[in-house]
Amino acid sequence: MTVPLSDYEKIVGPTAITQLRRLGKKLGGIRVVHVNSTREGGGVAEILEWMIPLMREVGLDASWEVIQGTEEFFEVTKNIHNGLQGRPVDLSHKGWKIFQEVNEKNMEKLRPSLKDAEIVVVHDPQPAFLLPLCDKRKGKWIWRGHIDISRPFRPVWKVLRTMLEKYDASIFSMCEFAQALPHIQFLVPPSIDPLSPKNRDLEPSELETVRARFGVDPDRPLLVQISRFDRFKDPVGVIQAYRMVRKVLPVQLVLAGGSATDDPEGNAVLEDVMEAAGEDPDIHVLNLPPSEHLTINALQRLADIILQKSTREGFGLTVTEGMWKGKPVIGGDTGGIRLQVVNHHTGFLVNTPEGAAHRIRYLLHHRERIREIGAVAREFVRENFLLSRHLREYLTLILAIRRGVDGRSFEV
Ligand code: UDP
Repeated sequence: MTVPLSDYEKIVGPTAITQLRRLGKKLGGIRVVHVNSTREGGGVAEILEWMIPLMREVGLDASWEVIQGTEEFFEVTKNIHNGLQGRPVDLSHKGWKIFQEVNEKNMEKLRPSLKDAEIVVVHDPQPAFLLPLCDKRKGKWIWRGHIDISRPFRPVWKVLRTMLEKYDASIFSMCEFAQALPHIQFLVPPSIDPLSPKNRDLEPSELETVRARFGVDPDRPLLVQISRFDRFKDPVGVIQAYRMVRKVLPVQLVLAGGSATDDPEGNAVLEDVMEAAGEDPDIHVLNLPPSEHLTINALQRLADIILQKSTREGFGLTVTEGMWKGKPVIGGDTGGIRLQVVNHHTGFLVNTPEGAAHRIRYLLHHRERIREIGAVAREFVRENFLLSRHLREYLTLILAIRRGVDGRSFEV
């Protein structure tokens, strides 16, 4: 479902939208291809879902390609992902060979689309090896890293870096992730689409349907964490925090996740979560299909407090989503969560389950703070993390790259 750009005027103002149209005009039909490794599930797919239609609407010839991989390939790439986020992993020569071969196979199929594109944006490590395979490429290639690579496991980074060095530019969500690479690096934090099914306003009846479906008690406080079942998201730590609070307050917890086709670790983590949850009827562990955007939206709105207790996080769109719904977020003190959660103002940053429990208790004992912090959080998202700012930055960086980033100024 695509929302026309003009519909966003009422949220971000007409000037921001006019500026996007003017920038698009300057780029006049440029061919931009985005490449990633999953059509649905996870933050990258969430962003590309709105970005491609809006790039088209402002006049770019934008498209989105998804590489296909085997189970073996996604096990290797999950290891690369974990390694880049700092976990020591065992990646054999064979693993890298599988990585290379799957990229080669995909290149055969994608060559017609990529060879002549003026800009190719490759998202995350999975398709990163496509670049050297695209002989006679015409355009500029940009690598867009969405994960926290501030402290990568060196052996993994060393191999990946040899590929990334060949790109013309890279984009990271925050300066802590930037690396020593021989090309220009742009800092562009992600954003959400406020009019998508995931984020649009909901009717009370839509909230009630979801509440009843999962048997959430409307008279007791609800804590919600939405995220893929991934160890870096620390769902078990969330259960520990809930248990500490539960000793003094009658809270309920929803842990809603799901899988992404490029994440094979989900089932193992889900099993750990189920075990940690045990028979507690007030812990709702939901394994939802990736299409359940309205359900996620409703759960975030039903929550009193949103948790995102990650130990590593590239950005955390779930944090933005919660804040946009006027909720205080208690987030792990890491990566992109720090860009969004301003301690005591838009939420709280925590490092341990004890820290999370302490902040939950504080908020539930000071309900007026839930409302105050939630209101500030929503405005903070409006100012910084909506799609208009994100699209503007993409358009300006494409313009800059096209002009050779040679220091000449240009008016936007
Ligand atoms: N999400 C979802 N269903 C789930 C879990 C997550 O739709 O069961 C969405 C979530 O609402 C968010 C995105 O997937 O839009 C996750 O993005 P984030 O940046 O938080 O984390 P990532 O999965 O990319 O690490």
